[in-house]
Amino acid sequence: MNQEYRGRIAPTPTGHLHLGHARTFWIAMERAMEAGGKLIYREEDLDPQRCRPEYAESAIEDLRWFGCTWQEGPDCGGPHQPYQQSKRYPLYLQAWKHLKECGLIYPCEKSRRDVAHATQAPHTDEEQEPIYPENWRPPIGFGQKHNEPGELNWRFRVPDHRTLNFDDLRLGPCAFECLRDFGDFLIWRKDGVPAYELAVVVDDAVMNITEVVRGEDLLISTARQLLLYEALQYSAPTFYHTPLVVDAEGQRLAKRHRSLSLKELREAGKKPESLRASEAWWSGLDEDPEV
Ligand code: GLU
Repeated sequence: MNQEYRGRIAPTPTGHLHLGHARTFWIAMERAMEAGGKLIYREEDLDPQRCRPEYAESAIEDLRWFGCTWQEGPDCGGPHQPYQQSKRYPLYLQAWKHLKECGLIYPCEKSRRDVAHATQAPHTDEEQEPIYPENWRPPIGFGQKHNEPGELNWRFRVPDHRTLNFDDLRLGPCAFECLRDFGDFLIWRKDGVPAYELAVVVDDAVMNITEVVRGEDLLISTARQLLLYEALQYSAPTFYHTPLVVDAEGQRLAKRHRSLSLKELREAGKKPESLRASEAWWSGLDEDPEV
């Protein structure tokens, strides 16, 4: 039980970071410090179409300005180098092979759009991935002759109607049911890029992350990832999902909210301390900002 606490922050350099990212990362940092552990910075730059080096550089600069500190990362090194996902491809490929050999994944020619069109049920949350239709699933074992992912999408076959339970350290008990809350999900893309769910599990496991702090928009991803931890025979970390920062209209922040990007806030002369006392910062948090 004397395992050292290892947390991580994992920005994706597809745009400038905003106050919502800063808050999640700040909470991750505070939790690591309180536990006397380490915080790891991992750059999730797998998608060459969407990630840009200038955003990666700016993320480090903005977070340092904001007051975040970490002990391992692309800028300071550490025992689990490299800390950029784009340089960790062999690890993901090894995981793909394992899953394929176990018959847990299959190649799939349907696009995201096909899946969206096939699903009749109206989706309350349009950002949630539509559920892959059960009758499109190939027989078990399909795709096992492939020795490499090739130019194909690969999906993880979720166990029929199994419920994934976990105790979130902020939200308490959470439960998500396969084929009801989420379906067969992508683990590899036909453009040769490992999907988020696979890469993040492999890295969190290999980097010995003991607690994942992330936004609560990723709760269902956590359930999917628990299936991958099990399939890859890794032990899963604990999870703490943070509430999402909202703007004055109650809208969740996104990279398109340029006015709340850390870069612009800094250029406008704002101070990190006052941002950490602002209304947006405290949105959704339980603690009292006056304390
Ligand atoms: N790179 C992911 C993001 O920026 C990280 C999510 C996670 O914490 O797993 O959303």
